[in-house]
Amino acid sequence: MKKIAYFDTSHDMPEEIISAAGFIPYRILGQVHEPAGPADQYLPEYSCPFACSCLTEVLQASDSWAGIVFANGCDTTSRHFEIWKLHVNTPFIHWFNSPVEDGQSAVKFFVEELRRLIAHIEECYSQEISTTTLRRAISDANEVKFLLGRLSSYRAVKDISNREYFEAVKKALQGSKSQVIRELREMVAAWAYRPVFPEGKKRFLLTGSDVTYGEWMDFLDECGIRVVRDDLSLGERYFARLIPENADPLEALASYYLSIPRPAAKTSIARRVDYLLQAVRQTPVDGVISQNLKFCEPYAQESVTVNRALKDQGLKLIHLEREYTAAPDQQAVDKLHAFIETL
Ligand code: SF4
Repeated sequence: MKKIAYFDTSHDMPEEIISAAGFIPYRILGQVHEPAGPADQYLPEYSCPFACSCLTEVLQASDSWAGIVFANGCDTTSRHFEIWKLHVNTPFIHWFNSPVEDGQSAVKFFVEELRRLIAHIEECYSQEISTTTLRRAISDANEVKFLLGRLSSYRAVKDISNREYFEAVKKALQGSKSQVIRELREMVAAWAYRPVFPEGKKRFLLTGSDVTYGEWMDFLDECGIRVVRDDLSLGERYFARLIPENADPLEALASYYLSIPRPAAKTSIARRVDYLLQAVRQTPVDGVISQNLKFCEPYAQESVTVNRALKDQGLKLIHLEREYTAAPDQQAVDKLHAFIETL
């Protein structure tokens, strides 16, 4: 099976359409270990480093993919689609215009966008996407989400490193769903027998810009922090809900994508705060890490209001701005150690 890669700054891109067409949906996550030189020549200097890294990956790997879908994401990256169209070598590139709003008119709009994507894929690959293949893709997607939810629930009670959880979600976003289901089932069975949550580690909620490389999750572990809840798209946003299986598949996908926890760029702040507060009511935490990647304006700006709302509820919170790098950041280590001392 070939991959159709997609760029998505949240969880807005309906990967079930790609699966239903017989391709593996592969989420582009950039290459933090590679210099972003190839992309820097096309993107403005103020672009966020994650977006530059994604374009670098695309410029290097697009020949091996069947095509690319670019989802309407944050304000910083939406117009990058025009740049990708000009400079990326691919037989298929599609703009998926997921709406910012989430009411009834947004559901109708989303369904039309799904139809447009289906028509474009069917035309390009002479491959029919039927109700039957869509239902199968939705069922597989739900199985993945259910299993990730089970794995996630072990984080607060078992010895599960931040990296292990991160890699499980990343696998689900980049691999063949049937293979991922097999591997996740084995992990669920194995994690049930893990030792209990380690003494000396603190339980944290993680929110803010997406963390897209495992080294940052290792870094938190090294600081004595276990992420037991989050609202990231490489995290709970991906599996917080299941897609309705008894409804019309397109209506079901539209209502699912518009009802999951949404990112900074796409939702009312109140809805994001509600999800975070609900998470800490379900899973008590010692503290909250709010962070934004340098130049990630959506999360930097929204963090002011979100963090105040969380602190008002008595949560201990630290905000960090981080570089896009896999190298250790001693300043952040010192800040986190000092913060943990206060808990
Ligand atoms: S890190 Fe922030 S600015 Fe960069 S793509 Fe994601 S949401 Fe947009």
